[in-house]
Amino acid sequence: MGIEEKLPSGFLLTTVEQAAGWVRKSSLFPATFGLACCAIEMMTTGAGRYDLARFGMEVFRGSPRQADLMIVAGRVSQKMAPVVRQVYDQMPNPKWVISMGVCASSGGMFNNYAIVQGVDHVIPVDIYLPGCPPRPEMLIDAILKLHAKIKEEKLGVNREQAAREAEEAALKA
Ligand code: SF4
Repeated sequence: MGIEEKLPSGFLLTTVEQAAGWVRKSSLFPATFGLACCAIEMMTTGAGRYDLARFGMEVFRGSPRQADLMIVAGRVSQKMAPVVRQVYDQMPNPKWVISMGVCASSGGMFNNYAIVQGVDHVIPVDIYLPGCPPRPEMLIDAILKLHAKIKEEKLGVNREQAAREAEEAALKA
């Protein structure tokens, strides 16, 4: 007989890791900034009609030091790239990134010298969201997919280092 069957009703078993994942995903704080037209849809997502508060994250933080989610909403110009990186570096760990829209994810229609062809050249990305622009429902769906990812993350893992190691291993293979 498993321990769950011996417990009286009303008891819930979990691991520290799962509890931490649940807490983290339930209280994300996005950094406040937008880069282009996609940001309009991001702002709409946070307003009354779509009510992002349902997912524990209606407060966009004015300081990157108080934020753990970066939503890259719009094209990233070469001039903005170092700023995006700096904002990301100022955010405390653990932190996550959603690339919102085709421009942020791949440059989109702006296949030219002025636009970074994917923000993952500058910072690591957790979720790529297609669309031009993605509607608020799509952004909410991306956020829920990120929640599922956060819930499964191991504690104490440096994600950037793990990504670098995976990249090196892939290059050696
Ligand atoms: Fe604007 Fe479309 Fe690019 Fe978003 S994906 S920044 S809506 S052009």
